[in-house]
Amino acid sequence: MKLQPWLMPAWNVLADALRTRRLHHALLFGGPHGYGKRALADAFATAALCTQRAADGSACGTCRSCVLVAAGSHPDLVHVTFELRDDGKPRTELTIDQMRALGQRLALSSQFGGLQIAIVDPADAMNPNAANALLKTLEEPASETIIVLVADDPSRLPATIRSRCQRIDLHAPTHAQALEWLREHGVDADVAASTLAASMDNPGQAEDWIEGDALAVRAECLADLAALSASRARVAAIAERWAADRPGVRLWFAADLAREEARLIGSGRRGALGLTARTEIPKLAAWFASANRARGLLSTTLRTELVLLDLLRGWPAQPGKT
Ligand SMILES: [Zn+2]
Repeated sequence: MKLQPWLMPAWNVLADALRTRRLHHALLFGGPHGYGKRALADAFATAALCTQRAADGSACGTCRSCVLVAAGSHPDLVHVTFELRDDGKPRTELTIDQMRALGQRLALSSQFGGLQIAIVDPADAMNPNAANALLKTLEEPASETIIVLVADDPSRLPATIRSRCQRIDLHAPTHAQALEWLREHGVDADVAASTLAASMDNPGQAEDWIEGDALAVRAECLADLAALSASRARVAAIAERWAADRPGVRLWFAADLAREEARLIGSGRRGALGLTARTEIPKLAAWFASANRARGLLSTTLRTELVLLDLLRGWPAQPGKT
């Protein structure tokens, strides 16, 4: 097992807890999407179930437990994630039935006589009823069980759940670590550098984007915002297009483009979005915040197109063209 170097501080905390058998019965892995929380949770679960751990705390990879974990069939490891709906599409939230089933499962004793591990991912997608059901399990933990909650945004979990978990926070990679990791995954140096810049050095996010055509999407967002600056585009048409195709990714890029524009204007240069006046800087900063807020609203019941319309109407246009 080789974990990314920026995960090692968190791994060391976990390996130490395994070694000294001072394990909290509930762990909360928090940090942005793309930092490797899932890889860390899997490595931890595998090590916790392994019967011949290495000196550094990692799993041996060859014992019966390790083989079963790798095959996805270890009886004492439970993954709770989105179920499929009747129409075959995944649900967008974790449900009370799933959490009740988890509680019942963990109340039984382990099949191999060791620990039982449950990974709930993404835990911040539990609806309120599901969270209440999980809380009951956390309040009366069965012995020799560990529940790992994985969440991009732990603040979305109820405080009553967070307070019952040991928090494992992931460190951000340095630019050099992220770059090297992408290079090791066969990504061209120039592509790696430009994608990392757009993703604020988030290697997992950058890799997702490289696998998709996200850089083309970014170029589209840039063209759309530049057209808005020049009053050459209709807000409604852009909102409709963005809503139809990866609105979350577009909002991420749009926010980043606004931030970059403000930085360039601030250093006396001309940005790619056509805004030039220093008076635009605070407006861009406010828009950056609005775009990030709008991204958070995409997972709510608000209509995506309306969220985008509202945001794009607030785009700082050039003086005289508002
Ligand atoms: Zn093993």
